[in-house]
Amino acid sequence: MKYTYMFDEANPDDVKLLGGKASGLVMMTKLGLPVPYGLVITTQACKKYYRDNKLPDGLMEEVRTGMHRIEEKMGRRFGDPANPLLVSVRSGAAVSMPGMMDTVLNLGLNDETVKGLAKYINSEHAALDAYRRFLSMFGKIVLGIKEERFNESLNKIKAKYGVKEDPEIPVEGLKELIEEYKAIYKADVGYLVEDPWKQLELAIDAVFKSWNSPRAKFYREANRITPDIADCTAVAIVSMVFGNADWRSATGVLFTRNPSTGENELYGEYLPYAQGEDVVAGIRTPRPISKLKEDMPEVYDELYKYSKMLERHKKEVQDVEFTIEKGKLWFLQTRNAKMGPIAMVKTSMDMYKEGVLTREEAVMRVKPDHITQMLYPRIDEANAPKPLAKGLPSSPGAVSGRIVFDPDSAVEWARKGEKVILAREETKPDDVHGFYAAVGILTSRGGMTSHAAVVARAIGKPAVVGAEEIRMDYSRKEMRVGDSVLREGDWITIDGFSGNVYAGKVGTVEPKLPREFFEFLDLADSVSIYGIRANADTPEDASIARKFGARGIGLLRTERMFRAPGRLELFRRIILAESEEERKSLLDELIPMLRQDFMEILGVMEGLPVTIRLFDPPLHEFLPSLDELISEVERARARGAPDKEKERMLARVRALMEANPMMGHRGVRLGITFPDIYRAQVRAILEAGVELAKMGRDVRVQIMIPQVAEAKELDYVVSNVVKPTAEETFKASGRSIEFKVGTMMETVRACLTADEVARRVDFMSFGTNDLTQAVFSFSRDDVENKFMSKYLELGLLPYDPFTTIDAGGVAKLMKMAIELARNAKKDIEIGICGEHGGDPKSIEILGSAVGDGLNYFSASPYRVPAARLAAAQISL
Ligand code: ADP
Ligand code: MG
Ligand code: MG
Repeated sequence: MKYTYMFDEANPDDVKLLGGKASGLVMMTKLGLPVPYGLVITTQACKKYYRDNKLPDGLMEEVRTGMHRIEEKMGRRFGDPANPLLVSVRSGAAVSMPGMMDTVLNLGLNDETVKGLAKYINSEHAALDAYRRFLSMFGKIVLGIKEERFNESLNKIKAKYGVKEDPEIPVEGLKELIEEYKAIYKADVGYLVEDPWKQLELAIDAVFKSWNSPRAKFYREANRITPDIADCTAVAIVSMVFGNADWRSATGVLFTRNPSTGENELYGEYLPYAQGEDVVAGIRTPRPISKLKEDMPEVYDELYKYSKMLERHKKEVQDVEFTIEKGKLWFLQTRNAKMGPIAMVKTSMDMYKEGVLTREEAVMRVKPDHITQMLYPRIDEANAPKPLAKGLPSSPGAVSGRIVFDPDSAVEWARKGEKVILAREETKPDDVHGFYAAVGILTSRGGMTSHAAVVARAIGKPAVVGAEEIRMDYSRKEMRVGDSVLREGDWITIDGFSGNVYAGKVGTVEPKLPREFFEFLDLADSVSIYGIRANADTPEDASIARKFGARGIGLLRTERMFRAPGRLELFRRIILAESEEERKSLLDELIPMLRQDFMEILGVMEGLPVTIRLFDPPLHEFLPSLDELISEVERARARGAPDKEKERMLARVRALMEANPMMGHRGVRLGITFPDIYRAQVRAILEAGVELAKMGRDVRVQIMIPQVAEAKELDYVVSNVVKPTAEETFKASGRSIEFKVGTMMETVRACLTADEVARRVDFMSFGTNDLTQAVFSFSRDDVENKFMSKYLELGLLPYDPFTTIDAGGVAKLMKMAIELARNAKKDIEIGICGEHGGDPKSIEILGSAVGDGLNYFSASPYRVPAARLAAAQISL
């Protein structure tokens, strides 16, 4: 077996065999960049090393042959006192593990060759400097001598000569230092390794060993680098070039574009008269690359030219190490740069425009998470204190505000212009006005799909939920964590990216959306076979969604419209109405209000479809709580003045109570047994549509019926409610509009009978929150607190199916349903509007499960951009 390859004979694409570092060197050599010549020992040799516990037979012979070829090319000889070749022995696995493994520089030095080096670089000082570096590096890495031993001597010498920085040590001092180092060798291991070939063999052995050093192992575990990704290190042997030869020499690092802004400029630093890691070690202050343009314009031009060549070739921004020896440029390393989200988007767009990337490549290069991260303010990590508590990062964004413990106070404080964070044990639909008033939400209970989390995401407010260390005490208006007590009005900061909660105000940085953000998403849309719609309930949400590129509304929940200020009372009277006439006349009061809401939102979404879901939740959610009523009624009785109204309300609440309301009297069941609400809604919707149409505006109404389990439910509602109401409305207003009728697919039975359902509707949309609940028989309001975390910990589920669609069950059922539906009605419009519609991972899963069976994904406004990208990527 062949264990070594010269830089000009290896195949740079075989990264697993050569490791990342050597494959980069080989690639640069092939492209004609100036790379000091060298050879690579493959990862296969390292594997063999670990199998046999020794260097593979024949390896050193191969290395010797290779070294002779390097000698020929460089015109110097390894171990030659007159004109010595020196090399570095460098680690490098298939994936970059920065700083985790070892590298030895200046190998081949001893008391004789150091003289030849001094002649070659024309500086005794620089040669001695290289020698002392070699002795300490080799001693530490190869012989295991403690680093402090060398540092002590170094500091002693520096003190003796009164210098602060290493390069200032005079020649005399360096000579003394070298003698001290040799004494350390003698004392600690008993010998010196003066023979360059022996040095080389031991260094190779040590680099192989560094693959299994505790820090390297830990790094691989932490970053999930499994053997199929990287399973041993290669070793690169590279002839040394000297950035410390004189003041026209330097060592440097650069990114081929700015890694945080993406700006197309060389970005990095260099340090004259320096070697190796000096630039990043912070010993001396390096200079920005822009300075090199003034100092050495020809070198700069060359650096620029080759950097661009590398980018074009790798189709990726590069992170480069270089050295200048006496005015000549050498490349020592290149790898793909790690960049922040803004830079990823900008560079994708720029490289596409420059013709470096195709449209598809540009779209695939950015991750949907990058897009999400760009949208929210961030904690200024550098200046952040220690967090007070930690919960689940359930809605991204970082914000500071004053704590309030109930939604009414949130509204009150906000009216006074205060920024508040609503802190609750958990939240419920009645608290939603508090969400709108608050800048962020914090709860001590609940999971990623708890009410607080879902609503916060839907309206784009940062939230941390389930911060269990926090004890909420509503009666004292305070919360405690350990010994700390925070009271109403105190400042806190929550970070919805990390789940951290901080006491006090912690600085955040606002995201600025660059032009490229929008350009890039348009580019993504241009390859996408899907549209992205938004889940939006208000005109504000709708316009945000539209700004973010939503192609319509996929779910407009109408419940809010009944909870709006001033309407809840009216709606309660409707629910409590004793006669049909009373109810009808009360509803007539409500309709114009609803119509106004629909007009606004249809107006904002002009030209795009708006899918309006008819009333869905159980009615008792709109009435006061049972406990409250009982105590009020009893108190009144005790006072001897029974409250007739309250008693009636209590009776009604009792009558509406259900053991299991989420599976009870709601959705279409309510529409059938209590049709007046649906009638009122349909009338308000169509009146709004007609009125806009009369103004010449383009409205696309889609009416969606929830909770259908049996196709005949649709027949009933359509023929008894929707059709007659539409006819009446159109007749009364003297004009009609086109509209579609569809259903939400959220019961298992609707999915199993999707063909029957499809025949009766124009569109269907999977409500995957309820569908997931139904498929698992997991109550989505309870799972998070009770058992989900245990399930995930035990690996019984790979992830929370309420966050990411269940590939094995729910997605499979959807696939079946879509096939049934399309067989019955080929062109039926099918979408998804559950939380999963805005989750890039779910989009990916659905992409492979149902492909183009779906027409669109619907996501909450702030998740629309990431969903656009995810959908584009599954289209390719
Ligand atoms: P790491 O993986 O920790 O970056 P490297 O193998 O890249 O380790 O080397 C450490 C430092 O030494 C880098 O700054 C590199 O540029 C420099 N270096 C490595 N080989 C040579 C060489 N042959 N000549 C000059 N400098 C070198
Ligand atoms: Mg390096
Ligand atoms: Mg539902």
